Amino acid sequence: MPKYARVMVDDSGGNAFDYELPEPVAASLSVGSRVRVPVRTRTAIGTIIEISETTEASGVKLITEVVSAEPILSPLLIRLGAWIADYYCCPIEAAMKTILPQVIRKAAVGHKTQLFARLAQPLAADDFAALKKRAPIQAGIVEHLIAAAKPVAISELLEKCDATHQAVQSLAKKNVLVIESQKIERDPFQEETFLHAAALELNAEQTTLFEKVRAAIDAAPGGHRAVDAESPEPDPTSTARCFPRPLLLHGVTGSGKTEIYLQAIQLVLARDQSAIMLVPEISLTPQTVERFKSRFAATQHEVAVLHSHLSEGERHDEWHKIRDGRARIVIGARSAIFAPCTRLGLIVVDEEHENSYKQEETPRYHARDIAVVRAKMEGCAILLGSATPSLESYQNAVAGKYELLKLTMRVDDKKMPFIRVVDMRMEPAKKSAILSEKLIASMKDRLAKKEQTILFLNRRGFSTSLICSACGYVCQCPNCSVALTFHRAQSRIVCHICGHIAVAPTKCPECKDRSIRYSGTGTEKVEDAVGKLFPGAVVKRMDADAMTRKDAFRETLGAFKTGKIDILVGTQMIAKGLHFPNVTLVGIINADLALHLPDFRAGERTFQLLTQVAGRAGRGDVEGEVFVQSFTPFHPAIQFARHHDFEGFWEEEVEHRRAFDYPPFTHLVLIALRSPHQQRGEFSAQTLARRLKETLPPDTTLSDPAPAPLEKSHGNYRFHLMLRTRSIVRLSRALRAVLDKLPFPEDVIVTVDVDAYQLL
Ligand code: ADP
Ligand code: ZN
Repeated sequence: MPKYARVMVDDSGGNAFDYELPEPVAASLSVGSRVRVPVRTRTAIGTIIEISETTEASGVKLITEVVSAEPILSPLLIRLGAWIADYYCCPIEAAMKTILPQVIRKAAVGHKTQLFARLAQPLAADDFAALKKRAPIQAGIVEHLIAAAKPVAISELLEKCDATHQAVQSLAKKNVLVIESQKIERDPFQEETFLHAAALELNAEQTTLFEKVRAAIDAAPGGHRAVDAESPEPDPTSTARCFPRPLLLHGVTGSGKTEIYLQAIQLVLARDQSAIMLVPEISLTPQTVERFKSRFAATQHEVAVLHSHLSEGERHDEWHKIRDGRARIVIGARSAIFAPCTRLGLIVVDEEHENSYKQEETPRYHARDIAVVRAKMEGCAILLGSATPSLESYQNAVAGKYELLKLTMRVDDKKMPFIRVVDMRMEPAKKSAILSEKLIASMKDRLAKKEQTILFLNRRGFSTSLICSACGYVCQCPNCSVALTFHRAQSRIVCHICGHIAVAPTKCPECKDRSIRYSGTGTEKVEDAVGKLFPGAVVKRMDADAMTRKDAFRETLGAFKTGKIDILVGTQMIAKGLHFPNVTLVGIINADLALHLPDFRAGERTFQLLTQVAGRAGRGDVEGEVFVQSFTPFHPAIQFARHHDFEGFWEEEVEHRRAFDYPPFTHLVLIALRSPHQQRGEFSAQTLARRLKETLPPDTTLSDPAPAPLEKSHGNYRFHLMLRTRSIVRLSRALRAVLDKLPFPEDVIVTVDVDAYQLL
């Protein structure tokens, strides 16, 4: 008989404690039940996240009350939480906190209720006539209610009938009308109507592919009930026994992948099941949402949208809509993978290669990998899609763990854009040439034809460094080991790591000389240069600085779509997922930016980014053209992107990874230590490395502790230890054991990142 429960207490920052189960109710409680427990001098409500027969805690108290035995989360999601803790080497409380959103945990936000009025009974004609004479406003209210033929919100009544509360109350007193409260749902899209958009007829390539998706959905055992409790393989990449196999859809930009997702979801709905569609936060644009809402417009309430800008109330209502089975399609960013869907039939992960699926705080999970694990637990189909699959996923397909599906052509035989690489070393040595002559000529041409241009540069600000030409002083952030960026609009210098901000100096802070030189190019400078080159053109900038107002993003996209903007300059905000048929020219200002970072994925990231940005061109009837400006034009990442050759890039890149034992052939774990005291941080890193060497499984490769590439950030000195292994769960558990025992100084913070993506 289980005797103890670990209870995660609401509103305690995810803390969990052990409690004894009261004998009479022990059998009725399970993981997910809500209970009241004593915490220090008060009591609080919490969720049971584990039940066991033993506890290591002492002085364990008794659960005082059962709030609801019915689990708030399905056992499957709770098992997923346990899996995350085990795999990502983090406390179970941290994992559960992620799965059960804060607004659901803390009871402060509830359903919203509103007062409604309805007629108590039909009013006799005489009575109505009398009322009209004595109290015309009250009569107006009655008339309005008769016309509406359903309960009307009091607020609406007051407004429409120009009435006061007294009028309504007096009618209520006379038993003419009844006031009642109703639960209403907050709907972030309440103001909008979506016209139904019918499914498109698939082309030949899509049809063949869709049949395979259908087969996977049909073959999935799940949906009706969760598959038995046999614990899943702990490694998401090892899914050899998973049935059906995950599908990896590699389709070039504009090949109609999204249409496949839409129809696959339709299929799942017809089977009375639900679906989760993950998209990167950045592509959760009005455009994407609209496409989904319109396709399922007949059942509009069925689409729940989850993203980071929802209010707490909206998030609360969407969550309940999903859990109650009223919203059977969930579209959302990373954390939507934990949506409490019932009878899940399909999970789609669009742009599966996107780094934003990786959460960069504890628990440091990767939503695509969680999606594969969840699909396996649910026994449902899973479809990963991308124009540039991650090496991890593609390796799984090559190894036969995933089934590879391909779309090789753009819809309607639209051509892939023509990509030209411009060797910036050959440009005439004009001072600070930002745009090459060829790109300028081509922009001129598009302006004349009334076609649109996108210029891409993944760096905000005006100048990216300030150097004194007299003494060589560089303006650096006092808290971080990076140069400060000059933002001309505010005439401030800003740190892009910690946000430190200062007035831009007019003379060198060190030698007081006036010859401060601004160099390096950000989007602000590009916008400025383009404005000077093309005074007649409408130029807009889209980056985090220009888009601070809530609706700016939507407005700018709208203006661009309707042709009110000729040239759009932007950061990665404009790189993904946007579909503008009139864009025929894309200029990539500096393709080398991410290429020479000390990160083994630098080439892969550059290839993906170039392909995605280039994919914004030529989506309409006119063929698109792309200029890629680079100082290393013969780098393989640039050359393969130029030829739209994913396979070529893959073959070259994967050999490097194999030779140096990097992912996808191993799992990489990054242990980061940070401290305001450089020596204490360094010493702790060395101590940890020594301990790990003694205890880790023999197949682990451990690098020597070293200062991180970004040595200092937010005033903390940073040190890295990198581990690689083929058996990640064994390593995670071993790590946990070492870290739990090793005492670190209080001001040294240690974090563990399993399958790390952020190596700087
Ligand atoms: P991807 O997701 O691969 O970039 P989309 O699904 O967005 O591609 O398709 C690109 C464009 O082609 C969209 O405007 C879409 O409506 C259209 N499209 C997709 N499939 C078809 C089809 N079978 N027939 C006609 N148009 C299609
Ligand atoms: Zn800083």
